[in-house]
Amino acid sequence: MRLGAESAHIAAPISYPVPMKPARFEYRAPNTLEEAVALLAADPEAKPIAGGQSLMPVLNFRLAAPTMLVDLWRVGGLDEIAIGADGVRLGAKVRWRDIEADHRLATAHPLLQEAVSHVAHYQIRNRGTVGGSLAHADPAAELPGIAVICDGEIRVVGPAGQRTISADEFFIGPLSTALRPDELITELRLPIWPAERRWAFREFARRHGDFALAGVALFYDLDPDGRAHDAHVGVIGACSRPHRLGPVEAVLNGRVIDGTAIEAAAKAASAAVDPPNDLHADADYRRALVGTLTERALTTAAQ
Ligand SMILES: Cc1cc2nc3c(=O)[nH]c(=O)nc-3n(C[C@H](O)[C@H](O)[C@H](O)COP(=O)(O)OP(=O)(O)OC[C@H]3O[C@@H](n4cnc5c(N)ncnc54)[C@H](O)[C@@H]3O)c2cc1C
Repeated sequence: MRLGAESAHIAAPISYPVPMKPARFEYRAPNTLEEAVALLAADPEAKPIAGGQSLMPVLNFRLAAPTMLVDLWRVGGLDEIAIGADGVRLGAKVRWRDIEADHRLATAHPLLQEAVSHVAHYQIRNRGTVGGSLAHADPAAELPGIAVICDGEIRVVGPAGQRTISADEFFIGPLSTALRPDELITELRLPIWPAERRWAFREFARRHGDFALAGVALFYDLDPDGRAHDAHVGVIGACSRPHRLGPVEAVLNGRVIDGTAIEAAAKAASAAVDPPNDLHADADYRRALVGTLTERALTTAAQ
C-alpha cells in the first residue's frame, strides 16, 4: 500500500512545543508515598493525579492550572481491597473495576458493589479510583454517598503525618473537602456489614453511566420481632454534598417496613431535601425523584 499525502503528513516529525489543551505543568511520578507527599508539600500549586478521569477534563478546560502533577501510578501499597473483622478497607488507587470484580464484596459489602456498578462507563471505570472520587467530591458521585451513608472514615497522610476524617466531615460542598492541598488520601474504611442486613441502592440518570440526577442508598437491620433499627438513608445528586436523611431514618426505626411505612418514608424523603435547580432538572423534579427512589429502594430492601 502506498502512503498518501495525508499519511505522509501524519508521519512528519512533530515540532515542539506541541500546543496542549491544559496549561503547562511539570510532571513527576514518584515511587513512594513519602516522595509524593514531599513533592506536594514543596509546591502549594502541585496536584496529585490518579486515574485522571476527573482531573484531565478540569485541566483541559483550564478550570485549574497546577504547576506540577504528581502522578500516583507508581506509588505502591494503595491498591488493596482488604476485608477483615473491622470491615472493608479500600486503598486510594483501587479502581471501580477492581470493586466490581472482587467477588468477596458481594457479601462483604453488597451496597458498595451495587452503587459502583452505576459509576460512569467501562473505560472510565477502568481508570477511575477511590481516592480520586473522594477528593473530587462531586455531589452526585456514588462512592462519596456510600462513604457518608455507611459512616465511612477516610485516612489521609500529609507532612504532619496521618489523620482520619469521618466521611460526614470530609465532604464540605460541591467539589470541596476537608483535605489540605499537601495531603493525600490513602484509604477509605467502611464498617463491618452484617450478613442479614436489608439494603438497596437506586439512582436515576438520563443514560446509564451519566452522573445521577438523584440517588438514594439505604440499609437497616431487623430486630427479632421484625422491626427495623439502625436505619441509614442517604441521598446523592439532590444536594450540595452527600448526606443522610435523619427524618426518614426516624420514620423507619422501630417499625415493620410495610407499605404504610414506605409511603411515610418516601414523603419524608421528599420533604427532607432542598435540591438545586440546574440545567438538568429543576428542584421540584429532584424532590419528587428522591421520594420515588426512596419508595423503590425500600420496597426492594423489604423484599
Ligand atoms: C464522562 C464521565 C462520566 C462520569 N460519571 C461518573 C459517575 O456516574 N459517577 C461517579 O462517581 N463518577 C463519574 N465520573 C468520574 C470518574 O468516576 C472519576 O474517575 C473519579 O471521580 C475520579 O477518579 P480518578 O482516579 O480518575 O481521579 P483524578 O481525575 O486523577 O483526580 C480527581 C481529583 O482527585 C485528586 N486526587 C486523586 N487521587 C488522590 C489521592 N489519593 N489523594 C488526594 N487527592 C487525590 C486529584 O488531584 C483531583 O483533584 C465520570 C467521569 C467522566 C469523564
